[in-house]
Amino acid sequence: MPSNTESIRPQSWQGIDDIVIIGGGLAGLFCALKLAPRPVTVLAAAPIGFGASSAWAQGGIAAAMSEGDTFDKHLADTVAAGAGTVDEKMARLMISEGPDRIRDLLAYGVPFDRDLEGKLLLSREAAHSERRIVRVKGDRAGKAIMEALIAAVRKTPSIRVMEGYVVEELISEGRFVSGVIARPDAGQSTTRVAFPARAVVLCSGGVGHLYQVTTNPTEARGAGVGMAARIGAVIADPEFVQFHPTAIDIGRDPAPLATEALRGDGATLVNRAGHRFMTDLHPDAELAPRDVVARGVFAEVQAGRGAFLDCTKAVGAHFPELFPTVYASCMEAGIDPVTQPIPVAPAVHYHMGGVLVDADGKTTIDGLWAAGEVTSTGVHGANRLASNSLLEAVVFAARIAENIKGMMPEPRLYEWPKSAGESDDLVTLEDSPQLAKLRRLMSANAGVIRTGEGLKTLIREIVALEEERGRTRVRFANMATTAKLIATAAYLREESRGGHYRSDCPEPREAFHHRTFITLKDADRIAAELVG
Ligand SMILES: Cc1cc2nc3c(=O)[nH]c(=O)nc-3n(C[C@H](O)[C@H](O)[C@H](O)COP(=O)(O)OP(=O)(O)OC[C@H]3O[C@@H](n4cnc5c(N)ncnc54)[C@H](O)[C@@H]3O)c2cc1C
Repeated sequence: MPSNTESIRPQSWQGIDDIVIIGGGLAGLFCALKLAPRPVTVLAAAPIGFGASSAWAQGGIAAAMSEGDTFDKHLADTVAAGAGTVDEKMARLMISEGPDRIRDLLAYGVPFDRDLEGKLLLSREAAHSERRIVRVKGDRAGKAIMEALIAAVRKTPSIRVMEGYVVEELISEGRFVSGVIARPDAGQSTTRVAFPARAVVLCSGGVGHLYQVTTNPTEARGAGVGMAARIGAVIADPEFVQFHPTAIDIGRDPAPLATEALRGDGATLVNRAGHRFMTDLHPDAELAPRDVVARGVFAEVQAGRGAFLDCTKAVGAHFPELFPTVYASCMEAGIDPVTQPIPVAPAVHYHMGGVLVDADGKTTIDGLWAAGEVTSTGVHGANRLASNSLLEAVVFAARIAENIKGMMPEPRLYEWPKSAGESDDLVTLEDSPQLAKLRRLMSANAGVIRTGEGLKTLIREIVALEEERGRTRVRFANMATTAKLIATAAYLREESRGGHYRSDCPEPREAFHHRTFITLKDADRIAAELVG
């Protein structure tokens, strides 16, 4: 039953929704289309096409489809990137179903790049041993995929899309989910709406906005992990967060990206004194693995020396024509990258951890499935291989649709929650001082470089924030819950692996050569011990 005492009104079309999908990114829309003609309601915090990382993806989708490529090669690259904790069975399943899901996307109208003979053009990305990334017009894959799916969704009468509905709670009865509670008007309404459902699919994306600097859209707040954990779902690998090393540090939130292609073209990383610091840290300097470069940049920023991407020699006057998006972002902030170094900082980019699901996308709670970045399927291990995340979203969304069709739970009677008073003092979450503090604390203590002491402090501070939380309590509670799970799992993992780096234990350790499985109860117990 819902935890809040505010007024909750049932939706105007009385009855039980067949299937409710939370989130209108790639995972949510693909699942809705695959479920058609079954009735589906998609609840999305923002209008579909906005507020979703899927629309911002620049690279593309990885799929072993070229002549020289094999599923084994794609698997080997995925396992190597994952730093020892990839679930190989799940990764093989994802990889082997990839080509069919690409064909589905083509059928929905995605205009993937093709050669003169009409064959898919496959490109190569860092850490992929073969050309296997399907793209659209260079860097427009995410936008084009979403445009095609949105058009298909709008034409499908069985899919009802409710935009601007921020889901705040999953309604649970014992270990069974029977619906969701959402706040309309992009979360600004004083009234909440209940959607009873026979099945709920969580597709709410990542956690970037738990941190101060992120490349993710504002809606990526870790709400899905928090909501699921609060009704007892097992969360896996929450400590594994991937940072992009070179977000443009111009005070924009979210931070625009300075693409890795700039370093590929010879741009160098320097500090304020003009010292090229990556040459001290790795033989490949700026082309070292992403996490190594992220730590190098972070250390300079932390030490007050600043970090800058100097493209003046390597790219120079060609900048506007070769990198128009980055150029526009810099010029807006008054930086001319043709003649000036670009200030950069690492930014949260992708969450490898999330709600634990099995091969059919089932969580540990009956009636609740999940797909996309909100999940942990195990395919990424401790670090994601580039372009595997869109692949994961479509493969598991399709598997969920099959599973629900095969084993839909029986309809259940639902009692409408009673109204318990209106409240008119709604403070927007964005303005809340607790949120600003949480993001600052997460970046400082659960960011690129972590320590046991810093994580202990962070966990205590999160508990204190939870105690003082204000009117925005449900949404803030979801965020604080996810933050606590990330911090606790990072505190317990006394080693460094993949996206998790502890300067007090900088090497991988055999004792931690496994995934993390944690519940909110576990995290609360550890937090209580630390608070004393
Ligand atoms: C800048 C950028 C570039 C990237 N490039 C690539 C790439 O090239 N290749 C690749 O494979 N991956 C890439 N990624 C990662 C990839 O885009 C994401 O992992 C993937 O799109 C996640 O899809 P999703 O459907 O799970 O989540 P999203 O696309 O983020 O969608 C989440 C949806 O849930 C909604 N939502 C969130 N909270 C709530 C709530 N409480 N109630 C209701 N709705 C809610 C959101 O508004 C949105 O509609 C990139 C990510 C970023 C940020």
